[in-house]
Amino acid sequence: MPQYRAPVDDTLFLLTDVLGFHARDNLAGFADASPDVVEAVLREGAKLAEEVLAPVNRVGDLEGCRREPDGSVRTPTGFKSAYDAYAKGGWMGLAVPEEFGGQGLPHTVNTAMQEFASGANLALGMYPGLTQGAMAALLVHGSDEQKALYLPKMVEGAWTGTMNLTEPHCGTDLGLLKTKAVPNGDGSYSLTGTKIFISAGEHDLAENIVHLVIARIEGAPAGTKGISLFVVPKFLVNPDGSLGARNGVSCGSLEHKMGIHGNATCVMNYDGATGWLVGQENRGLNAMFVMMNEARLAVGVQGLGQSEVAYQNAVAYAKERLQGRALTGAKAPDKAADPIIVHPDVRRTLMQIGAFNEAARALMLWTALQADILHRSEDAKERQTADDHLGLLTPVVKGVLTDRGFANAVEAQQLFGGHGYIEEWGMSQFVRDARIAMIYEGANGIQAMDLIGRKLPKDGGRAMMAFLGEVQTFLKDHGEDPAMAPFTQPLQAGLNDLQGAVMWLMQNAFSKPDNAGAGASDFMHLFGLVALGYMWARIAKAALARNAETASPRWEAKLTTGRFFMERMLPETALRLVRIKAGADTTMALADEAF
Ligand SMILES: Cc1cc2nc3c(=O)[nH]c(=O)nc-3n(C[C@H](O)[C@H](O)[C@H](O)COP(=O)(O)OP(=O)(O)OC[C@H]3O[C@@H](n4cnc5c(N)ncnc54)[C@H](O)[C@@H]3O)c2cc1C
Repeated sequence: MPQYRAPVDDTLFLLTDVLGFHARDNLAGFADASPDVVEAVLREGAKLAEEVLAPVNRVGDLEGCRREPDGSVRTPTGFKSAYDAYAKGGWMGLAVPEEFGGQGLPHTVNTAMQEFASGANLALGMYPGLTQGAMAALLVHGSDEQKALYLPKMVEGAWTGTMNLTEPHCGTDLGLLKTKAVPNGDGSYSLTGTKIFISAGEHDLAENIVHLVIARIEGAPAGTKGISLFVVPKFLVNPDGSLGARNGVSCGSLEHKMGIHGNATCVMNYDGATGWLVGQENRGLNAMFVMMNEARLAVGVQGLGQSEVAYQNAVAYAKERLQGRALTGAKAPDKAADPIIVHPDVRRTLMQIGAFNEAARALMLWTALQADILHRSEDAKERQTADDHLGLLTPVVKGVLTDRGFANAVEAQQLFGGHGYIEEWGMSQFVRDARIAMIYEGANGIQAMDLIGRKLPKDGGRAMMAFLGEVQTFLKDHGEDPAMAPFTQPLQAGLNDLQGAVMWLMQNAFSKPDNAGAGASDFMHLFGLVALGYMWARIAKAALARNAETASPRWEAKLTTGRFFMERMLPETALRLVRIKAGADTTMALADEAF
């Protein structure tokens, strides 16, 4: 039976020592998030993840969801009580303003909890995850009336949320969407159309489901300029908040899929369903982007969650499985063979995953902190920098953490040999579950295009310049410290590669956009490596300080893991740069018929 332990101590170290979270009490709500409070919240969250969510992960995979003949959907055994515990614990509204029943804590703390939930049970964690995304969109773009009607119930967990974008003929290219909204003349609209792949579209966990749906109002312009966002509840809601009649939206069928079996992926039929506009007419994509950006970060967190749980189980297995002898002589001579953790190739695998996870966690929390600064700071300049960082980092967190999250789950599975391929060990589920994160919320190729095509050139490259400037300042401040040399020198080399890539793209991509498209994925990973390297340098600085105070194997282990990243993982930036500079000519040379 696979196990999961939420990485609470590492998260607290990152928040306190590396990211200076508690020095931020100029931000609204941060003063309440004292070190004691944050620790208590995360320890409680860890307990929920380990003792309630994780134990039903495997049953969720085995049983999956079931659609009944009446169109209702049953979640796997144990999901309802685990979901109730999550909702009753107040986790749904951790970062939602108190006026709507939430706890108003920083989004950063909520992000840490999202990692625990995703690592423990990705399929189950998606139900509250989507609800939080829907709440974020309503908070920013909903009317006061909509907020008052929907948010308190969603915070309670009595109602969940969904995001309805995809249609059979349109996923990435939402401008093609056909779902139609016709005004009813009383301020509401009548929605008709089919949405596919809708996560948590129908289920038995909550009494109502609040669908956020994009559709085209009759007569609206074609393409993305004619898309509006609507709130469409499964049960209509009376003005006093009580539930009314069933709305014209139903689950037509459930998709049979590779992983996340415990999450209901639904075909949703809108047959004249009543909906209300959220935000302005024809500005629906703009409003939906609030949810999509939030969800993209949450999906990046899912990648890390799966990488972490796969790593933990691979470590446990590698310490127990006896095969062969260490190259330098027996390490467990009293046993028939040594545990496989003695083998350098096994250790390389574990070091690679572990070194990624620690830095990825730092990057995830740093990015979440930018969102808090953006929404809670009173300093306009600070808000602008946070906005720049957030925009730039969102596709990187989504794309890199999920690409690597899946690759790491496969590597961890590999350490189980044949047993990794056998379902009962659980590694197969981690691999299957991790795979979707590379696809939904915009496939990773699209994240790469977003980074290179939109985020990089935006405002004359201001965000990238700010990022490069921040890393360069860190290197200047710590470049003379010999203890930091194993970190600063490789980071400088990685930064040079990133700068080289930016320069090359500036000179070669504007006139020839295929050069940007062909190098986009490499650029996203190059940038991700440098961002992770920067995180490791900051972790090393904090670990050195802690070790100087009280020497401990914990800090030594961090420094060693960081050096591994710097020596063996960060240098991949050079390869990525070579590929980017190769341009698009060969990639685009073959005629379609030649494939
Ligand atoms: C399990 C699951 C759950 C989902 N949950 C939801 C949900 O809750 N709500 C929702 O609305 N949707 C959901 N989706 C849909 C998901 O977001 C889409 O599948 C995804 O965005 C990709 O769209 P598509 O499948 O139509 O692929 P396509 O858009 O057809 O893309 C196919 C491939 O072409 C590439 N491509 C497309 N256009 C370009 C381009 N311009 N440049 C470069 N490459 C390009 C893509 O990267 C991709 O690799 C879910 C999907 C699944 C499988």
